[in-house]
Amino acid sequence: MKEIKQFKPFIGLEEYESIKQCFETNWITEGKLAEQFSKELCDLIGCKYGVFANNGTLSLYLGLKALGIGPGDEVLVPDFTFIASANSVIMTGAIPILVDVDPDTYHIDLEKAKTKLTKKTKAMMPVHIYGTAANMDEIMAFAKDNNLLVIEDAAQAIGVKWNGKHCGSFGDVGSFSFFADKTITTGEGGFVCTDNYEIYQKMLFLRNQGRINRGSFIHPQVGYNFRITDIQAAIGLTQIKKLPDIINKKQKILSRYCEKLQHNERVKIFKPPKNSNHIPFRVAITLDQNKDQLMDFLKENKVETRTFFYPLHKQPCFSCLENNDCKNSIDLYETGVCLPSYPTILQEEIDYVCEVINNFYEKH
Ligand SMILES: *Cc1c(COP(=O)(O)O)cnc(C)c1O
Repeated sequence: MKEIKQFKPFIGLEEYESIKQCFETNWITEGKLAEQFSKELCDLIGCKYGVFANNGTLSLYLGLKALGIGPGDEVLVPDFTFIASANSVIMTGAIPILVDVDPDTYHIDLEKAKTKLTKKTKAMMPVHIYGTAANMDEIMAFAKDNNLLVIEDAAQAIGVKWNGKHCGSFGDVGSFSFFADKTITTGEGGFVCTDNYEIYQKMLFLRNQGRINRGSFIHPQVGYNFRITDIQAAIGLTQIKKLPDIINKKQKILSRYCEKLQHNERVKIFKPPKNSNHIPFRVAITLDQNKDQLMDFLKENKVETRTFFYPLHKQPCFSCLENNDCKNSIDLYETGVCLPSYPTILQEEIDYVCEVINNFYEKH
């Protein structure tokens, strides 16, 4: 058996063929294809407006800036997420306030969030983790009660819905990533959506050097360059066409893992909350013991695993954000493993990974 990788992007001949048109039309910067991709994303998400950014970190940043978040503000961020969620807040000059997560859903714990509120709390950033939706009914009610803006980090949540409504469409803004390991990819890329025309206008100015149209050298505001390319948009349009197939494949992979690991009492497979569908970003499992030894054993057997996200409050770079009440995110890091999962993984490869895990626990 060859090494089984943690992840492989699902791109092929269709994507390759699709970029040809950019060369034929001699238009490779952001243009008609980006406009089309944006329209299809808005339709998919069910939002009125959306703009691109170079990646999902910058789309979070763009969303926060458009909401007016900046120095002196605090933003509630779950402690269990990829570091970009918190970094985007820091980039605006605001401070991320880290909140522990629920041990079963891995989503932000609102009871704990309540204890973190101060006069400076301006916004919260629920993260739709591992391809499952946070409880957006409770989060929007909490935000309303406490007068908070909401920016949804839906980087891992294309196609994921809470009660049938797409992630990213609940809050004031929603942010997506098209990095290579996300559900659909353009290599790098981000998208931020909103239903609010004023926020949309702010994002247009911010991403285009403080003006609305290219070709003019009058800049009413200070802005940045967050353009993508039509080469990426061509790939994105192809990926959106493949999305139903990608979702189907990812869900089948998870079911196979569930089937093969169901009799192993040591292994608990991550499940979505009741009102969310699940488009696994990774196949995430937690173990009652010997996580490190299991990871070593899988490595010896040529299976590439990943740990869970390292608790943000423990990050060496966030020593100033140290706090002592994020026990659950520590627990998740200490017990969690991500198993290989990508649309082209073979059933026999999944079966092999499960066999290695089951063998390990027969011995330990
Ligand atoms: C991937 C990811 C991001 C950042 O997206 P990039 O495109 O890599 O910048 C932000 N938040 C979460 C939860 C992510 O998984």
